Amino acid sequence: MGDSNNWIDVKETDGHDLKHLVIPPHYAQDIERVLIPRGLIQDRISKLAADIAHGCSNPVVACCVLKGAHVFFGHLIEELKKHHNSAGKSIPLSFEFIKVKSYENTESTGDIKISLSEEDMESFKGKDLLIVEDIIDTGKTMVALVERLRRYQPASIKVVSLLLKKTDRSNRYVPDYVGFAVPDLFVVGYCLDYK
Ligand code: 5GP
Repeated sequence: MGDSNNWIDVKETDGHDLKHLVIPPHYAQDIERVLIPRGLIQDRISKLAADIAHGCSNPVVACCVLKGAHVFFGHLIEELKKHHNSAGKSIPLSFEFIKVKSYENTESTGDIKISLSEEDMESFKGKDLLIVEDIIDTGKTMVALVERLRRYQPASIKVVSLLLKKTDRSNRYVPDYVGFAVPDLFVVGYCLDYK
């Protein structure tokens, strides 16, 4: 699975005992341990923003994949605004919010429904898109989304995902930017979809 130098690798045995941290009450019954503390997530997002900024020269359309990525998206954009692009200028940003749903009972077959108007998608023509996702599991959703967006002829599509799951179910899709590679567990927190 890709080059582990490009992200922080979280191992199966990593994590912190719940008794050492304050856990939001709505999670307390359901979680086993804290895999990645909040401070590390924040610091990693600063670095992802620096890497993304370094790699862009044109205005960027940042596309948040709803609902799970909205908190990551907010923090990433805040950080991106602090950085300059390769030409030493601040990065002109615009935003889109894409609701992506796998069809029911398909368990992520890559058969997706995108809630964004045809007009909005046509406006992607010639633009540099940055898709912001919370977690890549099998990779099927992202492969299907990128393929669909390519039809609208953007100049480029880059994908950043906070998490990449190390799983045998993966189709080997690896985003351009990854925060952390995580073990094959169901992870929650940071407003990832949960119940
Ligand atoms: P895919 O398998 O197509 O890569 O992932 C589809 C979607 O399933 C992700 O965008 C995410 O919403 C959800 N998902 C997959 N694994 C997890 C997980 O461990 N935790 C949470 N909260 N959602 C997940």
